[in-house]
Amino acid sequence: MGAQKKPRLEHNILSFRFVHEIGIAQDILAQVLNGAEKQNARSIHRIKLRIGDLSGVAEDALRFALEVGVRDTIAQDAIICMEQIKALCYCSTCEETFEPEDIIFLCPHCGTLSSKILRGRELEVSELEIT
Ligand SMILES: [Zn+2]
Repeated sequence: MGAQKKPRLEHNILSFRFVHEIGIAQDILAQVLNGAEKQNARSIHRIKLRIGDLSGVAEDALRFALEVGVRDTIAQDAIICMEQIKALCYCSTCEETFEPEDIIFLCPHCGTLSSKILRGRELEVSELEIT
């Protein structure tokens, strides 16, 4: 009975967001497990990821999806590390880089809107510790 009282909209948004991270987690795990298999790994101890601020990934949801995904694989005891990468833009007026404060990339020096994103979209496996 209690479960039916959940606000539907919120529930749907959460489910929708989570589906996004499940797909990403599956891609990451496929990559990790393939890589480990090629090196004849018996166990994966640590998976380190680089996640850009602009990658659109919710870290908590991704972590949860990964923890579920590694069950019954050689990565089941792996420590999952996430390195957050701050966004970096380039201002063509100042000819300088800056870290945007917001999702609108305004140069803090001159106020020009930057369209050049140098960093922050990363979503990759940076390290894998295996035996
Ligand atoms: Zn500028």
